[in-house]
Amino acid sequence: MSTDLHLSLLSHALSRARLSPPKPTNFRVGALLYSPSSNPQILTTGYTLESPGNTHAEQTCFLKLAAAHSMPSSADGEAEDRLGPFLPSDTVLYTTMEPCNKRSAGNLTCVERILRVRGEDGGVAIRRVVCGVREPEKFVGENEGRKRLEEAGIEVVHVGGLEEEILEVATAGHVKE
Ligand SMILES: [Zn+2]
Repeated sequence: MSTDLHLSLLSHALSRARLSPPKPTNFRVGALLYSPSSNPQILTTGYTLESPGNTHAEQTCFLKLAAAHSMPSSADGEAEDRLGPFLPSDTVLYTTMEPCNKRSAGNLTCVERILRVRGEDGGVAIRRVVCGVREPEKFVGENEGRKRLEEAGIEVVHVGGLEEEILEVATAGHVKE
């Protein structure tokens, strides 16, 4: 897949991030699931706080797609547990910021969510994650999620070019020093 295509899909995810309400306590992130062999190719999109509660962009992608397949999810993690068999094998997760690997108690991280989505063969259903920037260390320290994803056989690709815009949108609600 070309860099141009990566950037165009990341830009689309960024346009979703702009819809997220600015808050001092989190990053405004946008994400989408893309399958080159599907029609439409963009399976779903999500942004920070789009779904009810303290929800992340990737989490909303999973919740919306589960709902579209008539799998209403009440318990946290349920969407991810059920969704795998419905995802095309070429599904790629695009997210403006790398998926979180630490969250406050009671919330699954997006890394855990991605790892929970399993195909019928038990393998990870999302084999590629494309992100625009690394997660800044501001809230939870260094993000070691990339390693966890790669150890599970998921390719993690950083695509540069939109960092400045992504961070500006992500931190719009933060108190500037
Ligand atoms: Zn997250």
